[in-house]
Amino acid sequence: MPAKPTANPATPPTALLPALEATLHGKFTHLRFAPPLEAHYLTDTAPARSRRYVLLGLIAAVLFNIFNFTDQLMLPDVYQLAWMIRLTVVTPLMLVMLALGRLGKLDPYLDAMAMTLGLLCCISLVFIMNMSSHANAIHYVKGLMLTFMYVSIVVRMHFWYTLASAILIMAAAGPTIMSLAGSAIELKINSLVELTATMVISLMANYQMEFEARREYLRNLRETLRTSALAAENAALSKIATLDALTGLASRRQFDTQLQLIWQQAEQLNRPMSLIFIDVDHFKRFNDHYGHPEGDRCLMQIGEVIRSSLQRHTDLAARYGGEEFVVLLKECAPEDALIVARRIRQAMQNRAIPHADSPTAQIVTLSLGIAGGMPSEFNTAATLIEAADDALYQAKSHGRNRVVTFNKAHLKQNITG
Ligand code: GH3
Ligand code: MG
Ligand code: MG
Repeated sequence: MPAKPTANPATPPTALLPALEATLHGKFTHLRFAPPLEAHYLTDTAPARSRRYVLLGLIAAVLFNIFNFTDQLMLPDVYQLAWMIRLTVVTPLMLVMLALGRLGKLDPYLDAMAMTLGLLCCISLVFIMNMSSHANAIHYVKGLMLTFMYVSIVVRMHFWYTLASAILIMAAAGPTIMSLAGSAIELKINSLVELTATMVISLMANYQMEFEARREYLRNLRETLRTSALAAENAALSKIATLDALTGLASRRQFDTQLQLIWQQAEQLNRPMSLIFIDVDHFKRFNDHYGHPEGDRCLMQIGEVIRSSLQRHTDLAARYGGEEFVVLLKECAPEDALIVARRIRQAMQNRAIPHADSPTAQIVTLSLGIAGGMPSEFNTAATLIEAADDALYQAKSHGRNRVVTFNKAHLKQNITG
């Protein structure tokens, strides 16, 4: 029998896809998936099954009680007992179980619930037949047939539960039918054969329906998982495009995009913006002295230093290329950019990464060039970049490890330590 789900799995992970494909292309003729898939199947289908089982259970309770009217006609010797069993035992038990099912208390045991309800009806009919010595008692076998058809074809209880029910009903009904006092042997045998044939036919229909339902579930799930795998792939790709793999800062591409956006906004709103170009001093010597892998680790640390020196969420730090970085400051005048640049230079000093071969200092240092102001002062974003680059060049030529702000009058630069 299918195991009840042990956990309450969330949306199935895309890692299930290979197992799912294999199941779809292979066989699940035993109507059972591999454990994680089976758990998802049971959990995903539980809400709809719960609603269906409860509704159909209520209808079954009504149908079962319609036969109160015929009990008196068919079995005058035991009809009062039959009424008592139907009204005071079976119906209340059914209603209690359905109420629990409605409240979701039986969700992990939905098929056990459906099986119990079906068996309750069948066993009560077998008991009534057993108690009667009237010739009509044999006709109650039809009640068993109807009940079994109902659970297997209408309720569509899981196959293994349906099969188990068939065996239990046969085990209870077989000896009772054969021992009925008021019926001829040929009638008893015929009733047993009819009951068996009904069960076999219903089981065949039940099996095929569950097989189809499971296949449909797998196909739908495959579509869902493929879509979410694709979405995850797209997200990963766009992350690769927007982030620099080594430092985790924004990529050059992302910087170019953001620069255009912020430039346009600044132009439209007539607001200032600034750029800080940052270049590592004597980094070639660093690589030569410590090796390229150590150089990479140093660049990662510089990325952290820059990131942690920025305070506004609109500030964007990017790796411009090689050992060059850039900070894009929205709504920021060059005077404020100078404060940020000094903070970065100071944070780098504090980090004190040894650079034994640097002519500037015994630690890794940065040169920073700032350009900023109103877009109208620069005309284009490219001119702003050129200006920041120019300021950086000045910082290099004035001895490195310093910050230079580009002077908008193109005349002089403010050089600060
Ligand atoms: P300056 O102070 O004038 O900037 O000197 P520099 O040595 O830093 O400048 P130069 O342009 O001569 O050399 C830059 C070096 O940065 C050379 C290159 O090997 C190194 N570099 C660029 N990208 C990477 C990288 O991703 N990893 C490592 N480890 N080194 C890099
Ligand atoms: Mg450089
Ligand atoms: Mg350099």
